[in-house]
Amino acid sequence: MTKGNFPVEKLKGIETPFYYYDTDLLKKTLKIVKEETKKYGFIQHYAIKANANRRILELIATEGFGADCVSGNEVNAAITAGFPASKIVFAGVGKTDKEINMALDLNIFCFNVESMPELAVINELAAKKGKTAQIALRINPDVDAHTHEYITTGLNENKFGLSMAHLDNVIDVLKLLKNVNLIGLHFHIGSQIEDINIFEPLCKRVNELQDLFEKREVKIEHINVGGGLGIDYDAPDSHPVSDFQGYFELFHKNLKVRDGQIVHFELGRAIVAQCGALVTKTTYVKQGESKTFVIVDAGMTDLIRPALYQAYHKVENISSNLPMKKYDVVGPICESSDVFVKDYELNETQRGDMLVLRSAGAYGEIMASQYNCRELPKPYFSDKI
Ligand SMILES: *Cc1c(COP(=O)(O)O)cnc(C)c1O
Repeated sequence: MTKGNFPVEKLKGIETPFYYYDTDLLKKTLKIVKEETKKYGFIQHYAIKANANRRILELIATEGFGADCVSGNEVNAAITAGFPASKIVFAGVGKTDKEINMALDLNIFCFNVESMPELAVINELAAKKGKTAQIALRINPDVDAHTHEYITTGLNENKFGLSMAHLDNVIDVLKLLKNVNLIGLHFHIGSQIEDINIFEPLCKRVNELQDLFEKREVKIEHINVGGGLGIDYDAPDSHPVSDFQGYFELFHKNLKVRDGQIVHFELGRAIVAQCGALVTKTTYVKQGESKTFVIVDAGMTDLIRPALYQAYHKVENISSNLPMKKYDVVGPICESSDVFVKDYELNETQRGDMLVLRSAGAYGEIMASQYNCRELPKPYFSDKI
């Protein structure tokens, strides 16, 4: 029996819970992103934090994409998987001296700088090495991403980025620093942005800020507009690939790109989310007072998004074709928030039935923890099982 895209018989033999990746869908997605970016000469850096699984990184690196990293270990993971240092950008509000030194030694493409003190430290550490670090300023564009408050990053008072009010001062300081070279402006307004029109105000803001830098006679070679394109968690089968065409076209139409300027993107979720599923087995079906609980062997330790951001993942019973019944699907972890879905229709479920949590390729496996002394879920790939 196969249900949807899941080879149920093959999966049955694997110890649950585990992540299952559809490599064909990943490759198809990468091909589309490559075609759409090529149209406009855009450069895409995959945001490693969405999924740093070694094989996934290798598949993405093979296609020639760059990497967007937010820690020193992510920079290492990118290099190990085959991303060239010349295509690595490094963001993050709390880069340590150790991380900065490592990235300087590797000669990464660009540091996305998030504060004045960080700028001073990068300058100082680069000077000690007799180097000049290429930097972009991460600017808070004060654009509302209309997404969950925990994944919105572009509003003015936020731990990320430099506020626009400080830019004149930043430019003054930059002129005095000898070991940093400003090559770009960087923005990232948030994640899981489903309405692409939300990126329009970002483009407008980028255009205005370009004028400001031009007035101050500062040349900007690179514009990095970050990531954040959302995916369809409700209907992964009808929308396995996000609207990359509309997304890149919107930036092409709305950004006033200067001569010779290159536009960069840092998509994470939209690249990897739909290719992954968390596969779990039903341990017990428990009758409550008015509800029925399906207790599965995966929990918030394997996929924390529902507990952390009230996120929804479509759940399917791939072992059953019985009529639909309503359940709460919960994990075994000793936390009340360890709930995947409530009052949810599944094919009638029995002990041992295999369930899949869809669209779990981004911010899934990478966020797994060992709370309750649990084992980390292992990854399996459709072309290798
Ligand atoms: C998380 C992050 C991204 C990727 O965001 P997605 O929503 O997964 O596309 C891009 N850039 C930066 C700086 C980030 O922190």
